[in-house]
Amino acid sequence: MSGHLSVVGLGPGDARWLTPEADQAFAQAHALYGYGPYLDRVPSRPGQARYPSENREEAARAAAALRHAAQGARVALVSGGDPGVFAMAAAACAEIEKGPEAWRTLDVAVVPGITAMLAVSARVGAPLGHDFCALSLSDNLKPWDLILRRLAAAADAGFVIAIYNPISRARDWQLAAAFEELRRRLGASTPVVFGRAVGRADEKVAITTLAAADPNTADMATLIIVGSSETRLIARPGRSPLVYTPRAVESVRV
Ligand code: SAH
Repeated sequence: MSGHLSVVGLGPGDARWLTPEADQAFAQAHALYGYGPYLDRVPSRPGQARYPSENREEAARAAAALRHAAQGARVALVSGGDPGVFAMAAAACAEIEKGPEAWRTLDVAVVPGITAMLAVSARVGAPLGHDFCALSLSDNLKPWDLILRRLAAAADAGFVIAIYNPISRARDWQLAAAFEELRRRLGASTPVVFGRAVGRADEKVAITTLAAADPNTADMATLIIVGSSETRLIARPGRSPLVYTPRAVESVRV
């Protein structure tokens, strides 16, 4: 019997944002692997084994899931948001690349989910309406000077920038340095959106400017969208403004 590994996206938090395909993959799995709080979001079903692990143990978690699948089981590896965005699908690929030949014969499926930047964008309007890029601010897996260069190049090229992993207890100064770099390149009034725990009970969304953006408003569960020179606000009486980036651009200051 050949094993099966599904790398499944949970979406950002709201159960209504879980796709029917993801739900089906969970229902069919013999075993579930994932970061503990993510696994807790998957309804438990009788006869299913669950293997929670710590946040940063991605390689070990992926390898354990692959070993289990190689024994002939249907295994689901759970990921927040979309598994292909700074998450478990690439971790599983890395383990398959360097792992035993037999892992290449496994049935592997990646089940997409709604990624955080789309959920945050939807809350405020259409900040990703024109060209944008996504960047992880974590320097655990890449050097800090590369992150700064990419931020600068993205800002100079006129991309709206979605920043994942903006801050953590171990990375407490990087976000302030990133804002400093962006302030040198973008106008003070550039819209900035902080979306925290979007789709969960403790959701918080704030719209501010690059000049006023405060790194202390962000935590590990926050995604930040920094606008381009085209991104603007539409004021609305009695409602929060819409943030949007027009689809048409005549010329961008680069
Ligand atoms: N695979 C995930 C991203 C993993 S990186 C996805 O596609 O969304 C983890 C980062 O994602 C967090 O530091 C935060 O920046 C962002 N994030 C994840 N869930 C979020 C949520 N519900 N609201 C806001 N940001 C979120």
